[in-house]
Amino acid sequence: MILNDTIVALATPSGAGAVAIVRVSGPNAIEFVADVFQSIKNKDLRKQKTHTLHLGFIKDDAKIIDQVLVSLFKGTNSYTGEPTVEISCHGSTFIQQQIIQLLLRKGCRMASAGEFTMRSFLNGKMDLSQAEAVADLIASDNEAAHQLAMQQMRGGFSNEIAKLREELLNFASLIELELDFSEEDVEFADRSAFRDLVNRIQFVLKRLLDSFAVGNVIKNGIPVAIVGEPNVGKSTLLNALLNEERAIVSDIAGTTRDTIEDELIIEGIGFRFIDTAGIRETEDIVESIGIQKTFEKIEQAQVVLYLFESLKFKTQNLEYITEIEKVKNKYPLKPLVVIINKVDLLTDEELQRIQSQLEALEVKLETTSAKHKTGIEELKNTLLSFVNTGALRNNETIVTNTRHYDSLIKALEEIQKVQYGLDMNISADLMAIDIRQALYYFGEITGQVTNDELLGNIFSNFCIGK
Ligand code: GDP
Ligand code: ZN
Repeated sequence: MILNDTIVALATPSGAGAVAIVRVSGPNAIEFVADVFQSIKNKDLRKQKTHTLHLGFIKDDAKIIDQVLVSLFKGTNSYTGEPTVEISCHGSTFIQQQIIQLLLRKGCRMASAGEFTMRSFLNGKMDLSQAEAVADLIASDNEAAHQLAMQQMRGGFSNEIAKLREELLNFASLIELELDFSEEDVEFADRSAFRDLVNRIQFVLKRLLDSFAVGNVIKNGIPVAIVGEPNVGKSTLLNALLNEERAIVSDIAGTTRDTIEDELIIEGIGFRFIDTAGIRETEDIVESIGIQKTFEKIEQAQVVLYLFESLKFKTQNLEYITEIEKVKNKYPLKPLVVIINKVDLLTDEELQRIQSQLEALEVKLETTSAKHKTGIEELKNTLLSFVNTGALRNNETIVTNTRHYDSLIKALEEIQKVQYGLDMNISADLMAIDIRQALYYFGEITGQVTNDELLGNIFSNFCIGK
């Protein structure tokens, strides 16, 4: 890993916008930019204060490339922790490329993916999990995901881990001290206090591991399948849920339209309706008769909405009950919501009769009129009830990152070995090995333990310029 050179990259998305930002960071950042920048007041960039803005021109010898605004960050007072210059130029891709090419010729190197953030980490501006949160923050597209990324970036998660690691480290040194005095049979590390710590660590680790399921939901959304025969009102219901008229609804089954992945956000949680193309495009009767197709959709979902048309249900309910039973038996762990749609076509007595027949099935039952938008709020609440959002509301730490999850699992395994060692009264030298190993996995999360390969993996997931 080379860190003593100066890197350049476009920080804004590629393509033309009103303004683009070219970011330069490294020991010679100011030097290199000053070489190609002509201030309108003829100021020398090298002599300006940190955190100042300067208007002027980027020039390739005599040729003016663009009029730009330059932001100066001197010393370690920047995102990367090294001298940085940000050039705000006009958004044309041609101008962006010209400026970057010019700086490359002056001696800059093209930044690799995530290198600005990696430098920030290596210069101690943030710990590893905070750096990873930057990537999540950029990708976050809903309230809850954004809140999570912000929390992690402020260090909520790694603070907790770092504290536990510190305590564990303390015990590790005491126990290792015992080894030096082994023939005298002394115990510097108070075993009952140590046992307390080991318990506490296990408790925290388990809670963090549990939170991963919630974190995953928040980050990626919950895939929901709407299944049911053609014309029962799936598209209409989806529209009612999304509160819009995007899907084409018709009496003719199989109305074609372009695929859009639909996401419904309820209290910050994203519900993704999977395979809505299936709902909107090919509702071929022959195809949908086979229950196989339905099962395929259900496979990919976490929540299943099974839609029936009220009138058909009235006349053929036994057949439908068998169908619901099949799904229930095949996917016992998947939340299943049976929806009787078009209730506007039923009398109250008819509806009650259907409801009482379905009671025996012990499924979640909702009644809607997608067309008249009744029962929609209740359905949304039911969807939300499948998500444990408590942790989010209580502002607890939530793990969203697979790498952290893996390290936490390994740390827990090691701590359990330590616990076992304590229970079995094993010798301090053996216990010390397990403790060291646990410390290692804790350190992996916060970045106190790193290697080039690990860093390479993490930062290559970033885009260039970040
Ligand atoms: P899909 O094939 O399951 O997607 O069904 P559609 O959403 O395309 O609806 C088929 C037809 O049923 C359309 O004419 C809708 O207007 C109608 N429809 C949908 N929901 C209701 C409802 O709640 N009540 C009534 N009366 N008609 C509905
Ligand atoms: Zn449809």
